[in-house]
Amino acid sequence: MGSITFSHVYKHYKGEQRPAVNDFHLSIEEGEFLVLVGPSGCGKSTTLRMLAGLEEITEGELYIDDKFVNYLSPKDRDIAMVFQNYALYPNLSVYENIALGLKLRKTAKHDIELKVNRVAKILEISHLLDRKPSQLSGGQKQRVALGRAIAREPQVFLMDEPLSNLDAKLRAQTRAELIKLQSDLKRTTVYVTHDQVEAMTMGTRIVVMKDGVIQQVAPPRQLYDEPANLFVAGFIGSPQMNFLEGSIVRQNGVYYFLNKRIKFRIPEKYYGQFNAKPGTLRNCVLGVRPEHVQLGPDKDEFPEDEYVRGVVEMTEVTGADSYVYVKIGEKTVIGRTEPEIDYEKEEKLLVSFNMNKIHFFDEQSGVSLAAGGDEG
Ligand code: ADP
Repeated sequence: MGSITFSHVYKHYKGEQRPAVNDFHLSIEEGEFLVLVGPSGCGKSTTLRMLAGLEEITEGELYIDDKFVNYLSPKDRDIAMVFQNYALYPNLSVYENIALGLKLRKTAKHDIELKVNRVAKILEISHLLDRKPSQLSGGQKQRVALGRAIAREPQVFLMDEPLSNLDAKLRAQTRAELIKLQSDLKRTTVYVTHDQVEAMTMGTRIVVMKDGVIQQVAPPRQLYDEPANLFVAGFIGSPQMNFLEGSIVRQNGVYYFLNKRIKFRIPEKYYGQFNAKPGTLRNCVLGVRPEHVQLGPDKDEFPEDEYVRGVVEMTEVTGADSYVYVKIGEKTVIGRTEPEIDYEKEEKLLVSFNMNKIHFFDEQSGVSLAAGGDEG
């Protein structure tokens, strides 16, 4: 129970030029924790609201458990939604807020009591049941909102940025609790966030959206290691992946990535992405994450021809790591180093890449060459 299928779903708001959601086509399995992520305005909430029945579907079909639900009202969809603003009733106690959904469904009083107490225990809010929402902290309010959703025991949970009003510490804590809760309850959850860290830590699968269009659907690790295009590569990961424009050339059977300053040999495992045209094969963008950038003052640390000279622009210390911004000509490349290593501004450094961890993207379409972007 709780599987969801979007079949070529569109949302066109009146008066808007382009659809807010454009051909959303995806099946969500029962029990999955699916995260919709993307920048503000990319269509995440609209997608969720169509699923909830709060927004009409312009075109396409929506199924919950193989049942066609386009025209089914929200209350008949067996879903519970948690919003960022909690939406608690101020005049009702915590107990009454959690019990309300059950009351409306004419659940027996005794059952309501059992369910509310059980949920309160799971969320550790048993001692707050008599309070009014105004007497709660933000984190506590969010738990009550969650409690209300859980108490109803819906087939599907929908959550729209539920943690965004919490401070950083509480957000991390509640995030961990939500993950645990979902794995205990095993209910299908569709979770909207603009925060890629939240997406990566919570989702069993992540949908990255941009301008209403799905860019990639994948588990977190795959999204990080095999981004389908430049947008996903840049959106997932912080600091973001470095991008360098250049071309791929073949000389004596060996492929190189070449631009004004760099000539790096490309490992054979990538050759299949390029196909074997002679001469300049193609213009492309090379992507390399900060943790795969090697930095050092000493030539001996690098293989003969595999480094480029740069100048330190600034260093960002996060505690566990340091990120060094190195200027290579006009271009800034970010590399991760041990926090103990302290590079000075203006210091001259040599820069190299772990060439087994690079990505190539088509210069025009932005599509990863690993995803078959080298056609045409
Ligand atoms: P997100 O949740 O990713 O921030 P939304 O789904 O809220 O994005 O919005 C997607 C697009 O649809 C945006 O361009 C937004 O301005 C537009 N939009 C959202 N709601 C409405 C509405 N009720 N009427 C017209 N346009 C809307």
